Amino acid sequence: MTAVKPETTTRTFESLDPATGEVVGTHPVHTEEEVREAVARAEDAAHWWDSLGFDGRAVRLRRWAAVMTRRLDELCAIVGKETGKPRGDAQLEIVLAVEHIAWAAKNARKVLGRKRRPAGVMLANHTASVEYRPLGVVGVIGPWNYPVYTPLGSITYALAAGNAVVFKPSEHTPGVGRWLADTFAEVVGEHPVLQVVTGFGETGSALVRAGVGKIAFTGSTATGKKIMAAAAENLTPVVIEGGGKDALLVDADADLDAAADAAVWGAFSNAGQTCIGVERVYVHERVHEAFVAKVVELTRKVTPGENYGPMTMPAQLEVVRRHITDALERGGRALTGGMNGVGDRYVQPTVLVDVPEDSEAVQEETFGPTMTVVKVRDMDEAVAKTNASRYGLGSTVFSRRNGIRLARRLRAGMTSVNAPFSFAGIPSLPFGGVGDSGFGRIHGADGLREFTWAKAIARQR
Ligand code: NAD
Repeated sequence: MTAVKPETTTRTFESLDPATGEVVGTHPVHTEEEVREAVARAEDAAHWWDSLGFDGRAVRLRRWAAVMTRRLDELCAIVGKETGKPRGDAQLEIVLAVEHIAWAAKNARKVLGRKRRPAGVMLANHTASVEYRPLGVVGVIGPWNYPVYTPLGSITYALAAGNAVVFKPSEHTPGVGRWLADTFAEVVGEHPVLQVVTGFGETGSALVRAGVGKIAFTGSTATGKKIMAAAAENLTPVVIEGGGKDALLVDADADLDAAADAAVWGAFSNAGQTCIGVERVYVHERVHEAFVAKVVELTRKVTPGENYGPMTMPAQLEVVRRHITDALERGGRALTGGMNGVGDRYVQPTVLVDVPEDSEAVQEETFGPTMTVVKVRDMDEAVAKTNASRYGLGSTVFSRRNGIRLARRLRAGMTSVNAPFSFAGIPSLPFGGVGDSGFGRIHGADGLREFTWAKAIARQR
């Protein structure tokens, strides 16, 4: 048990099953003092963990991945209960997370180990080298929408780089967080290399103020701004993985069946509660009509409760309602779903057209199963409209001839060409955004370096 010990806290909170409202588990609300104690214990554990070296850590990380694979059913069940997502979606995020663990374990030495650098002309009698050292303790603050894949995108890379981690999972998914820490404890014994602190924003805020080596935050942009301001007090560096308003672009020569399929999957999977979910679609006028017909046909086959779960947070239902209302009041039309489709827990998949670009449904993150489809004259207009967003997380392009060229013009940290979400499934690629989607990178070599400091050594021969 690696949750903070001893648990002197008397305040507790419950995680709920969003499909039924039933209590899933009861967890402590850890206080500022308890968070500081956890960080102090992590500092000791970090020395031991670092002393294992790349190989010692890799062995243990691989064992952890094996435990996750062996106990997949158990983890899927907890994820399903706390988020409401169907088994297939839970399994997908766990399998992807396991691949990240394997990648980080395998590549940490290659990316972070000591490397010779040219000494230059003036100091040719020197040898020069650089290596990447762990920061000590990393604080990870996570969201609820992908409670395994998302925080592990930071935790795995921080651990592989030699840091100890104190993890504050979302108040909606504390059971998942504790499961991850408990199984990690099975591979490291008594050393509190990965601890979990549970609670609400105040517990996260205490972690930000606890003087850790770095905070890796994934969540809404509004919370990211608060965290950055609080972290400035101790000059604690931060990675901010914030919100998004991803666009999918459909060129005149695109494979329309594949593009429609990607739009529907990208917008509605996980009930649209995906930071890289497709929320806006820009379609070349030559194929707009045909594309919309295909999207509507596919959307009619999507069933909430079967293909995706309930909205995890009741508050998000209000945002979805507001965005659809605003779109409809300003001349938009719902081809599927719409206001009648917004229930108490489930939202029908909603395809909106004729929505003005300055409406909330186009400008703000909806985080629900909706998409706006907009006709454009050409791909220059599609690129300009995509880039006009304050967000810049992911994006998707469907084009037979110009996919890569269009991808490079998009102001988004990541772009998939002719397939949805591909960048999220490739562990070697850096994950992160620009603008209001945040900064810093997790995953891949960039993700490993994110949790280190560069140590330069010059030696006279
Ligand atoms: P949120 O910002 O409400 O909460 C995220 C975490 O921050 C929670 O653990 C919460 O307890 C904690 N927190 C809240 N206030 C805090 C404070 N003042 N100081 C420290 N911690 C605090 O976000 P959410 O609703 O859990 O997640 C949904 C959001 O996350 C969406 O905007 C989504 O786009 C984003 N997201 C982004 C990515 C990405 O990789 N960029 C991935 C998944 C989700």
